[in-house]
Parts: sequence; C-alpha cells; structure tokens
Amino acid sequence: MEKIIEIQNLVKQFKNLTAVNGLNLNVYKGDVFGFLGPNGAGKSTTIRMLLSLIMPTKGDIKLFGLDIKQNRNEVLRKIGAIVEKPDFYGYLSAYNNLEILGKLTGMQPTKTQIMDMLALTGLEKRYNSKVKTFSHGMKQRLGIAQALLHNPELIILDEPTTGLDPQGMKEIRDLITHLSKDKKITIFLSSHILYEVELVANRMIIINKGSTVVEGMVEDLLNSSHLQVTIEVNDADKAKSVLENSSFKAVVESVAFNRLVLSVSKEELAPLNKYLNDNGIAVSSFVPTRSLEEYFLKLTDKAA
Ligand code: ADP
Repeated sequence: MEKIIEIQNLVKQFKNLTAVNGLNLNVYKGDVFGFLGPNGAGKSTTIRMLLSLIMPTKGDIKLFGLDIKQNRNEVLRKIGAIVEKPDFYGYLSAYNNLEILGKLTGMQPTKTQIMDMLALTGLEKRYNSKVKTFSHGMKQRLGIAQALLHNPELIILDEPTTGLDPQGMKEIRDLITHLSKDKKITIFLSSHILYEVELVANRMIIINKGSTVVEGMVEDLLNSSHLQVTIEVNDADKAKSVLENSSFKAVVESVAFNRLVLSVSKEELAPLNKYLNDNGIAVSSFVPTRSLEEYFLKLTDKAA
C-alpha cells in the first residue's frame, strides 16, 4: 500500500522542552487517520513539521514517498490544510473569499471550481452571503473548501471541530467521510477527543508527551480490548460467587455494595447477563466503559 505520510524518529526540541520525542507513524493512501492525544501531546508541533512550517530537530518526514527537505514545494502542492482557525474577510461573500484567498496562494480558481468547492462543503446556497453572517461551523467548512481548492491528495485538519456544537461537529464528520469515500482524499485528522475520531477514522495513533502510546486500526483498538462493565445487582456477593463458579472468562475486579466491576470480553456480555438472571440474580443496570476510553481519559486528565 502506498504510503502518503512516513514519519521516522521525529524529534522537536524547544529549548529544554521536548515537544515531539521519537515519533514514528505511517499514513496510507485512502486512510482517514486519527491523530489523537491530550492537549500538549505534540500534535500541532508534528503537523507544523509536516507542513514545513518549522524544522524538525531530528528525524525524517516523507510525503508521497519524497523527503520534504528536498521536495518541499512539490509535496506542499499536493496538500491542503487547516492548522489554525481559518481567517476570512467578514464583509466579503463566501465566493469572493475563496476567489481572493485562491489568488493569494497563486491560483486563478475558476467560477466552476469555486462553486464546486462550496457545493462540496454544503455552502452553495450561501455563496453570496457575507462570511460575517456565517456560524462557526460554516466558517470551518469554508476553511475546508479553501483547503480543497487546488485539488489536494491529502488534507491535514488540526482539531477541525474545536468549539463546534454537536450539529456542527456532525457536519464536519459527514464532510470528512464524503471526502474520503467519494473524493478518495487521504485525511489526517488531529483531535483530543477519542469519540470524535473513532466515528470517522479507520486507523489511529494516540500520542502523549511526544511519543506513541498505541497505534492501529480503530476497530481493533476499540474491540479487541476488554470492556470494563459495572453491573448493579440485588445481591453482589452471590453474583460474584455465581460468576466465579461459572465457565465465563470474565474477571470480577471489585465488589462494593450492590455493584460489581467486571473485566469482560464483548462476546461474553449478553450470555453473562442471561446467566446471572437464570441463577436468581436480578441485574438492574449494566454500564460498559471501554478500556481504551478509560485509558485515554486518564491521559487527558493528567494533561489538564
Ligand atoms: P498539542 O497540539 O498536542 O496540544 P503542541 O504540539 O501544541 O501540543 O505542544 C506540545 C508541547 O510543545 C507543549 O508543551 C507546548 O507548550 C510546547 N510548544 C509548542 N510550540 C512551542 C514553541 N514554539 N516554543 C516552545 N514550546 C512550544
């Protein structure tokens, strides 16, 4: 499979702070790649190096198979990015903004190109509205329209849903899915929210303090791990002994009052519930917490 981004042993040192510390990652053609980490993990610093905005202290970055040190302009032409909150001329229309911003970056976008991008990002009906009347979510989508104007093969989005309401977040997710599925654009998406990434990404990496914590297919990472489930029952001690005398692989991790915390695989969940009921234990609630989520929350808590 063709590698679009290849990062090897990347290090960025700011005076005595190591923001990125020996990072390795690969993004393949067609990926929606989730780049996750708590605030301060080193995501923006990595993205700034990917875009040649800052120089790495050490390590190699290849984009489209080319070393960015020698091929900066060639690779940057194939990338669209939003790294900060996009800035627009509020008194100009969405259309005029794309026209001017396109020209500023050396393009002469045609009317059709601009309208296509506005249609793609769901803004075609508002093409003539002043951008100052746009919601935050619409401005984010206009930012993506701008990033797409030169038909990039890869787009890099740094926390694109920050500050959006749930509807705005969904619109960005839908747009990402559409760009990936229908336009075949490779997407590198950074976020500090696991939930947001797992809904759109096929592969992800979690970093902390500038290095990898886990990496893999989103589906595997979410499913292979055991679940932690808190169950509420009428008799916790009896439930514990029923389970321990059963053939289930689930492990009782703690018992407190009428609650049991279990470590259990997804497959065992439903039969285990039935078994408890069949053995005279009334289960009044069943609350699963995925261990990856717990783990990620702990990282985020520490960083906060
Ligand atoms: P993230 O995007 O994951 O929130 P950043 O890459 O922005 O994290 O930051 C990683 C670490 O590097 C933080 O501790 C941050 O304060 C530090 N940092 C980022 N940019 C600079 C800079 N220009 N000078 C000094 N420290 C920086």
